[in-house]
Amino acid sequence: MRSLQSDIEERGGHIFELVDRNPERVFSKAGFYQRLMALSMHDERFKTQLFRFVAVLPSLRGSSEIIQHLQEYFTGNDDAFSPLVGMGIRAARVVPWISAPLLRWNVSEMARQFIAGRNSQEIIGTLRKRRAQKIGFTVDVLGEAVVSESEADGYAAIYGDLLEKLTRETKRWTDPLAKNADLFPVVNLSVKISALYSQISPAAPDDAIAHLSTKLRPLLRRALELRAFINVDMESYALKNTTLALFKSLLTEAEFKDWPHAGIVIQAYLRDSERDLRDLIEWGRGRGTRFAVRLVKGAYWDYETTKSGQNGSNPPVFLQKPESDANFENLTRLLFENNSVVTPAFGSHNVRSIAHAQAVADELDIDRSRFEFQLLYGMGGPIKRALVEMGYRVREYCPMGELLPGMAYLVRRLLENTSNEGFLRAKFAENVPAKELLRDPKDLIQPAADSSGISESIRKNDASLNPTVGHSFRNAPLVSFIYKDNHDKMESALREVRKRLGEKYPLYIGGEKIWSDNLTPSVNPAEPTEIVGYGTEAGVDEAERAVKAARAAFEKWRWTPVEERAQLLARMADILERRRYELSAVEVFEVGKPWSEADGDIREAIDFCRFYAQQMRRLGRPKLTQQVPGEESYHHYWPRGVALVIAPWNFPIAILCGMASAGVVTGNAVIMKPSEQSIVCGAMLMQVFEEAGVPPGVVNFLSGHGSVIGAHLVDHKDVDLIAFTGSREVGLKIWQSAGITRPGQRELKRVICEMGGKNAMIVDADADLDETITNSIYSAFGFQGQKCSALSRLILLEENYDRVMERLIPAAASLRVGNPEQPGIMVGPVIDEPAYRRILEYIEIGKKEATLAYQAKELPPHGYFVPPTIFTDVKPNMRIAREEIFGPVLSVLKVRDLDEAIDVANGTDYALTGGFFSRSPDNIERVKARLEAGNLYINRSCTGAIVGRHPFGGFKMSGSGTKAGGEDYLLHFLVPRVVTENTSRHGFAPERSPEYRDEFLWQKPRR
Ligand SMILES: Cc1cc2nc3c(=O)[nH]c(=O)nc-3n(C[C@H](O)[C@H](O)[C@H](O)COP(=O)(O)OP(=O)(O)OC[C@H]3O[C@@H](n4cnc5c(N)ncnc54)[C@H](O)[C@@H]3O)c2cc1C
Repeated sequence: MRSLQSDIEERGGHIFELVDRNPERVFSKAGFYQRLMALSMHDERFKTQLFRFVAVLPSLRGSSEIIQHLQEYFTGNDDAFSPLVGMGIRAARVVPWISAPLLRWNVSEMARQFIAGRNSQEIIGTLRKRRAQKIGFTVDVLGEAVVSESEADGYAAIYGDLLEKLTRETKRWTDPLAKNADLFPVVNLSVKISALYSQISPAAPDDAIAHLSTKLRPLLRRALELRAFINVDMESYALKNTTLALFKSLLTEAEFKDWPHAGIVIQAYLRDSERDLRDLIEWGRGRGTRFAVRLVKGAYWDYETTKSGQNGSNPPVFLQKPESDANFENLTRLLFENNSVVTPAFGSHNVRSIAHAQAVADELDIDRSRFEFQLLYGMGGPIKRALVEMGYRVREYCPMGELLPGMAYLVRRLLENTSNEGFLRAKFAENVPAKELLRDPKDLIQPAADSSGISESIRKNDASLNPTVGHSFRNAPLVSFIYKDNHDKMESALREVRKRLGEKYPLYIGGEKIWSDNLTPSVNPAEPTEIVGYGTEAGVDEAERAVKAARAAFEKWRWTPVEERAQLLARMADILERRRYELSAVEVFEVGKPWSEADGDIREAIDFCRFYAQQMRRLGRPKLTQQVPGEESYHHYWPRGVALVIAPWNFPIAILCGMASAGVVTGNAVIMKPSEQSIVCGAMLMQVFEEAGVPPGVVNFLSGHGSVIGAHLVDHKDVDLIAFTGSREVGLKIWQSAGITRPGQRELKRVICEMGGKNAMIVDADADLDETITNSIYSAFGFQGQKCSALSRLILLEENYDRVMERLIPAAASLRVGNPEQPGIMVGPVIDEPAYRRILEYIEIGKKEATLAYQAKELPPHGYFVPPTIFTDVKPNMRIAREEIFGPVLSVLKVRDLDEAIDVANGTDYALTGGFFSRSPDNIERVKARLEAGNLYINRSCTGAIVGRHPFGGFKMSGSGTKAGGEDYLLHFLVPRVVTENTSRHGFAPERSPEYRDEFLWQKPRR
């Protein structure tokens, strides 16, 4: 009997023979697109610039804009294209294909290779041609980034319309194989869920399924009536579980239960894919009706690995190409083995994968009319022809739409065609021999170098570029609520924490718990009648005791070896990890944080502990200043003394933990004062310190009124350092008061002062609007705008003002506002009644000063919910454009050009965060150089700083210029010293001094 491999080789060889008779146009050497692709394959930098240029081109309007971008993207590069561009720009008429309109035309033509038509009429023209070639179709509507429900409704309508038109047009079309035609309706639509609902949150699959079902049901119903087929495409991993659950839930409904003409996609590059496919098959058997599966490798490999790399998490995809290929083959067999309930389609251009499917079908005696091969429009033309000739069923995936919404799709195709790993490039551009291309992928899999499966390049997110050997730092990954397990853990944590609501929490002074009847309640802002817990209220007496306890503890703690202090923080990080869900749940109740925001806060606390531990290990070793004979000078640090930490409620665990852990690891003794609105979170952090084994008095916990204990401690002669994060009003008072030297005071007080912002985001004329809208909405309204980094001024160039506003308002109107206990809520309540009243007052001021462009209407009946609000016609001198509001209120300012935009952005007292959306490299450089912001973000949201990666803090009235989570942060908690010793004796001196030496400890630790 012939082996499967030799069967595959024979079939593959035959396909190649047929393919070689018709060369692939896409990879020929003639034409604009072909030349660019050839260059891209040989020059990575050129490829990046080219794809970026292609992505921006459709949104450029005039010729001058096009030529300017061309110049910015390509001149000055050391690549084969630059001289051409230079020439082209100088003499656009002499080199006609480079002039702006022709360039646009050429790029449109390039896109046209992959987009089957701009509208239904054009598409139908294409489908007719394919019919003549015996190739079937599935039509997809381009556009994946809907930002509002009105856009999503628009897409649903296009699909509905398309279904009708295609049915009418193809009434007399018959099945090309004239066999088993009942399995393969002529009309076939491919639908993406991201186009149908703008508020999909992986944390809230039920909400997404409810909304998507409403949109999809009418389409399925109509397809059933018209005997058409609907396929649900698969997109990024974040949407996978929701897509699967939606498919199963809809098709189990009574009206669709017996309908066999629906399909879904399985992506073989996913590690989960076999489990998902088995699960689908089991579901299908239970349902009792056939359904279809399109097996593909997957189109989002670069996206998934980049995203996971940023989060430091394990990518959901295989990291070796042959693993995806081998898994594709494994799942091919599984599909055929279950042919009684699944109709398989194989979406691949890889002749090995195709030949393997053919061989397995024959082995299992499955007729070739019972499955199909699907290939993309514009790709693998000769392969399609070969398959038709061999008598297989072939369907082409035909995207329909304009270039602008189709850009993400086009870039994926360009990447696919130029990928080093891709089959098409290997076969058609590099002429790799057939034998090589037909090898068994299992033989090509390399043994895993790293058991976790995360490649080094992906996980390289060390905070320091030069970390001390063995002391590297990695950010903790965010919890992904895509996984049901994590979702369930969060729900169970919320239930558990709810049971403890109303508990009392003590003060901690000198290692003792102090209780009193003087209690401060902390309420749930979403349900103000609900008391989350009671904090024991400290007065001046307790503050005095805390200072004494801290002073006494300091005298010992300061001499504790750095490593011991660092290990305390490492233990804290572990405890925070263990209690992660519980602490997130407390934040949901106490400060109204949505799930993922609460998780982000705990992640940041964990990162602070690990990062500061690493940094202190680095700083803790006395370092030689210069190598000179006969003398050595070591630079090193001492702690300052007693550190008072005053934290806000908006990052109730992270900021408190960051400031306190920095104080502790540097050898200071700390008094922590949490905000009055987040006492329970503060008490939780104290528990974590205690469990980690902090010595008595090194950390003291005082909850109480800022005006009483805060003020007393700030003025105290025995407090050496104040680390404050909060409002400008309080911050400036502290700054001033700390400047007064009191009798008996030993040190000049050091103040670390982080205050507010009036953060601006500028949108350039060529900005990617899908990203601009999504990120500005998130930056302005995420956690109700209560982040000091939140966006409060959106600055639009008049040129694109209308285009932005037309999408911004519906996007704001689509936001989910509600109790953040529910997953997937983006806007919850503001922190308390005074904040609620203050923000509403600002809204009234805004109504008088500017134009109310949008205000949400439907809000939960109780709780401190402020409607997301947008003002337009805002001028830079208005109060709503200058004063920090700290709530879900966005001011939109219109400006003439980028210079004015920068002036307006810089024209406030603050300099905390800033943002810029642009695709002009020159403009990006200008903004990088000039925008006054401690943290400037380009082409992304302006919130969500990550420890080590985005050291956070501002200047001007935003702060004293310190950077939490940065390499120099700990220095503020330390006093630098230099110890110099003459090491020569009678002219004799050691040859060299070591670069580092042990700490100068009063008492050497016993070994
Ligand atoms: C008709 C059709 C419909 C499709 N629908 C979808 C869909 O709904 N959702 C979707 O996600 N994809 C879909 N795809 C798949 C996708 O668009 C690509 O065309 C496909 O992944 C390319 O695989 P290939 O077998 O043709 O080529 P090959 O060159 O054999 O494989 C390339 C693929 O291998 C994988 N890969 C690349 N590098 C690595 C690596 N280092 N480690 C592991 N794996 C790697 C990637 O998936 C890459 O796309 C569809 C494809 C077709 C033909």
